Amino acid sequence: MDGNPRGPAHPRSASWAPLGDPEIDAVLEAEFERQMTTLQLIASENFASPAVMAATGSVLTNKYSEGYPRRRYYGGNANADTAEQLAIDRVKALFGAEHANVQPHSGSQANAAVYLALLDTGDTVMGMSLDQGGHLTHGSPVNVSGRLYNFVSYGLTRSDERIDYDAMAGLAREHRPKLIVAGATAYSRRIDPVPFREVCDEIGAVFMFDAAHIAGLIVGGVHINPVPYADIVTFTTHKTMRGPRGGTILCTQEYAKRIDSAVFPGSQGGPLDHAVAAKAVGFAEAARPEFAQYQARIVENAAALADALGSQGFRLVSGGTDNHLLLIDLRTFDADLTGKVAQEALDAAGVTLNRNSIPDDPRSPFVTSGLRMGTPSVTTQGMGPAEMARIAEFTSRVLRAPDDEDVIATVRAEIAELCAAFPPYDR
Ligand SMILES: *Cc1c(COP(=O)(O)O)cnc(C)c1O
Repeated sequence: MDGNPRGPAHPRSASWAPLGDPEIDAVLEAEFERQMTTLQLIASENFASPAVMAATGSVLTNKYSEGYPRRRYYGGNANADTAEQLAIDRVKALFGAEHANVQPHSGSQANAAVYLALLDTGDTVMGMSLDQGGHLTHGSPVNVSGRLYNFVSYGLTRSDERIDYDAMAGLAREHRPKLIVAGATAYSRRIDPVPFREVCDEIGAVFMFDAAHIAGLIVGGVHINPVPYADIVTFTTHKTMRGPRGGTILCTQEYAKRIDSAVFPGSQGGPLDHAVAAKAVGFAEAARPEFAQYQARIVENAAALADALGSQGFRLVSGGTDNHLLLIDLRTFDADLTGKVAQEALDAAGVTLNRNSIPDDPRSPFVTSGLRMGTPSVTTQGMGPAEMARIAEFTSRVLRAPDDEDVIATVRAEIAELCAAFPPYDR
């Protein structure tokens, strides 16, 4: 066997060990090149640390550990137990949580397990509407959540495009859901847990906060921690948290047993022990003072990007941002420009982002009239407000001439030069 049996070569060094599989080696080389030479503005992405990546590629991928630390079904789990207990202890300390389950394979698996733990099929649940910023797992008809449960959706005010807490509470009183889900995937403002807690207490509902996007902001002290308010908090470890891909569930002791059983054996088999170890590594990184500074810079950069985009003539949904992402409404910039065409032109120019529906979008979710941009990845690279202004300028130049191949080629070269000054990993 070639390479380092304890994990991949340190990805910050130039000596990335080839796998000996020429086709996949070519994919990895091309993807490395893409990440090094283009701007990563997808709000749910980040650059994991070399330590997180090494743990993800470690020998723990070989182990089977059905069950929980010291209560496993198979032998040989002493090391897996230590890794999982470290992940649990570290994440509980980070958030001040009573109980943690670090086994969900993803954010969607975490949410599905919560639903399985608390609901019967057909039960009424409330979540944020997908076309106003909610996630697929908050009751979309194409997702298992929308298939099994009766989701009622709340959304934004028309006037300021922020969560309409009064309407949410009104809907809750009317429909009396068993569970209310807060959290979003395309919402650029703070989410206040208090109105959710109040209406849950009033109607006797359980309060779940899906912090997938903002978990890092919470740990960094930039956004309010929902743990003291919510019964259950789910999040992904790979977005602003900058850990490995995966999910985590935090809850009060009251729900601990039900949550654990719903993850295993309820909806998963063996945990991904390599990912669990990598979560432990990521949680330790998140406990360092630099992580709080990093999260503050993510938000500063998003604000700088929002300002610069405004100066370039773009309208932002809700007028701006107070987190790591922003949503552009393209219609005032160019009424004929769709999110799809804009995404493709920007992709060709080296600006990687996703098209996104905007509130009351007249176009389909496949076409859309908006774009979503996030600053976690570029902030990890060390970019600051001056680079955010340049990103806004690149975006504007490309979108003023989305069919102009000369403009696209020029911008692409300028972006490659910018990225070379802020490499996320060493060659
Ligand atoms: C990303 C996200 C998820 C799902 O995470 P996956 O790991 O992609 O399954 C769930 N909820 C919200 C709010 C998200 O943004």
